[in-house]
Amino acid sequence: MTEPTRTAAPVLEIRDLRLELQAGSRRALPVLDGVSLRVGKGEIVGIVGESGSGKSVLSLAVLGLLPPAIRIAGGEILNKDGQFLNRLGENRLRRIRGKEIAMIFQDPMSSLNPGLTVGRQVAEVIRLHEACSRREAEERTVAMFRKVGLPRPESLLREYPHRLSGGMRQRVMIATAASCRPELLIADEPTTALDVTIQAQILQLMKKLREEDGTSVLLISHDLGLVSGICDRIAVMYAGRIVEQGTAAEVLRRPGHPYTAGLLASIPLPSKKGSKLTPIAGSVPALHERGAGCTFASRCGYATERCRREAPAYHRAGDSHIAACHLLAEEGGSAHAVR
Ligand code: SF4
Repeated sequence: MTEPTRTAAPVLEIRDLRLELQAGSRRALPVLDGVSLRVGKGEIVGIVGESGSGKSVLSLAVLGLLPPAIRIAGGEILNKDGQFLNRLGENRLRRIRGKEIAMIFQDPMSSLNPGLTVGRQVAEVIRLHEACSRREAEERTVAMFRKVGLPRPESLLREYPHRLSGGMRQRVMIATAASCRPELLIADEPTTALDVTIQAQILQLMKKLREEDGTSVLLISHDLGLVSGICDRIAVMYAGRIVEQGTAAEVLRRPGHPYTAGLLASIPLPSKKGSKLTPIAGSVPALHERGAGCTFASRCGYATERCRREAPAYHRAGDSHIAACHLLAEEGGSAHAVR
């Protein structure tokens, strides 16, 4: 897959990644099909798609946390030093996780230990990756709590997770993830369980980490509206494939893929005030339902016989974005807006 734009020196580069699910003696089913993506230094990149699109399994592959039934069938995952993460052993990966690449999950309660104070949990992560005394780790934890906007950071050290609100727990998770100043923060639906005001605050916090520490962020979400306000670049995933990617401005203004256009039509954006929202009918095909043609064909208003028969290649859809759709080829790969 061609890169739509060259990013700054990448902190993460995924090249033509293919994942397969091997369930029992049945034939292996493709989970991800030729995914390529770069995240540049200090960039915020959004991965958007419905449930079942493959966006979360992609982040697990980056961290070497795939479930046993899913294997890497091809492609590479490289970090900023050009190390092939997919070839590293568990010990090396464990050192990279948390220190170089950190993850924030949707539900902080499932990631926080209910039996330990939040102060101790953050301090232990710091001590796991960096040589420092208990006291130094505690001081750094207080500083992190302050940085992520947690009130009364000193007394918060002794609190247990269940005593905090959902928004505060997510800030603790971000403090944990950012405590060793990782190059890349992967945030998988980090605001789904939070109300709208807190969602906005958490997104602002990610921007702040990028601005103050140069942290790159890979933001995974089903909500195109959410990523549209914060991301530099957007990759849209559908049925295990990136179907469109490019600068956020271009993808949002002039989508090249009917699926992206459908997502845009289904979300409220300030620019569309008063216009009707139209959800995309149907759902993402299950793994065993994905055939040779375009996986979006069953839901696409533009689908032709060719679409059902032949998977589309990537074509340029603008100065800085590409999409996988036959419509673009028919227009000579030039900019084509799908409405
Ligand atoms: Fe629709 Fe065909 Fe484009 Fe797929 S290739 S998105 S079915 S027009």
